[in-house]
Amino acid sequence: MSVISHWIDGAASPGGGHAQPVHNPATGEVIASLTIGDEADVERAVASAAAAAATWGDLSIARRAATLFRFRELLVAATDELAEVVSREHGKTLADARGEIARGLEVVEFACGVPELLKGDFSEQAATGIDVFSWREPLGVVAGITPFNFPVMVPLWMAPVAIACGNAFILKPSERDPSASLVLARLWREAGLPDGVFTVLQGDRIVVDALLVHPDVAAVSFVGSTPIARHVHATATAAGKRVQALGGAKNHGVVLADADLEDAANHLVAAAYGAAGERCMALSVAVVEESVADELIEILSAKARATRVSVGTDPEADLGPVITAAAKERIEGLITSAEEEGARIVVDGRGHVVEGHEGGFFVGPTLIDGVRPEHTVYREEVFGPVLDVVRVSGLAEAIAVINANPYGNGTAIFTSSGEAARTFRRGVKVGMVGVNVPIPVPVAWHSFGGWKDSLFGESHIYGPEGVRFYTRGKVVTQRWPARTRSTGPQFHFTGD
Ligand code: NAD
Repeated sequence: MSVISHWIDGAASPGGGHAQPVHNPATGEVIASLTIGDEADVERAVASAAAAAATWGDLSIARRAATLFRFRELLVAATDELAEVVSREHGKTLADARGEIARGLEVVEFACGVPELLKGDFSEQAATGIDVFSWREPLGVVAGITPFNFPVMVPLWMAPVAIACGNAFILKPSERDPSASLVLARLWREAGLPDGVFTVLQGDRIVVDALLVHPDVAAVSFVGSTPIARHVHATATAAGKRVQALGGAKNHGVVLADADLEDAANHLVAAAYGAAGERCMALSVAVVEESVADELIEILSAKARATRVSVGTDPEADLGPVITAAAKERIEGLITSAEEEGARIVVDGRGHVVEGHEGGFFVGPTLIDGVRPEHTVYREEVFGPVLDVVRVSGLAEAIAVINANPYGNGTAIFTSSGEAARTFRRGVKVGMVGVNVPIPVPVAWHSFGGWKDSLFGESHIYGPEGVRFYTRGKVVTQRWPARTRSTGPQFHFTGD
């Protein structure tokens, strides 16, 4: 059985902690043994990263950009290999795994523009004989802690920007699907990145908690569930670090009566069930105008039944298994709670079995009508292929439902009215809004981030906000005295 280790100082590195099994969620089998790091591993990793940061941050921007360009080419060439690694440990379909790599690639391409991104400002003759100029410098060692659901894309939301800006980056990937991190490490090395600039520390809360308070870690990017995001933000900010901590979500897709219902249903089904619902931007609640609710549910239920659940390597599969046996049990329990609390299960995905893969953690697409905000299935982030339908009287009630929810990651509206769409996008207290676009993940040159319990900290991730997050400003006010000297010290400011 393969052993998945750390990556420290440009090479695979065994750790001092214990080992933990990694499963293939499509079969339930143990496929690898993962090294779980301890505090001593964190010390080694941070020391290596700190040494590397000092020289990497001083290298010319042109040479740093050249490394990013080489990494970009290697990532494109490794897409199929990486997609297989992701599908084997995560369970998602190969097509979906390629999709996440493509979205991560976008951020690499954005980071290739680092010479432009780090270009400073200059004020000539700001006062007589005085010039003022400012630029941004790297922070040093920065850490990224990532979730299981996007083992390539989320690390690529962070590392390319951090590294391009001149930092050393330590990745703590999810212990559920850790192998992709090592493929990325290999590609960085092949791209010529100096040893220690990209580090992988495998492990769980022991490693995370040690990173959060380590004096040589300047900033922490976190993506994961809300309780851990809150903990990461509180602990690392108390330790004086810069923190962006992205949390969980409950994303609503509003369907107004004037929408193209067939089109809206296609989007809802794909955005609710794709990746087995394990996306932080999954549309898990359809908020439907009452007058078209019956008709839409009819269309949705036909599409949910036609959705194919299978192993990720099956080219016909629309979605694969969920990540663990515990996740399957939890999701099925939430469906049962909806039934017990008075909602109607229109399509039931509980007990779904894929022939030949009876040990896999499969849940079928599930559609629940008559969900109300007080239901457990609504209050919790299900993170499974479950679509709740909440019926509303119209746009105003839809906005009120969304704004009463503690999360504010993404939302979408399906309508043919520009006026309704404008009222919606201005009225919702949500960070990312789609208009007839179900999963409005911003392109790489904008930044990604939710509001309320979906993000702790001031900074959104990647794009321009990512550049600011991983750098700090310096400003110089400069005078070169002319031969005619001043007559003596001047004790007051002058505005000229
Ligand atoms: P998780 O919070 O369980 O784990 C995320 C990371 O935190 C992992 O690396 C894990 O090892 C670590 N961790 C877990 N428990 C910890 C603890 N007690 N102390 C310190 N570290 C700990 O999340 P997950 O199950 O891997 O991922 C799913 C969650 O991530 C969902 O809630 C989803 O919405 C969220 N997510 C959010 C975004 C976003 O952009 N907002 C993107 C992807 C996923």
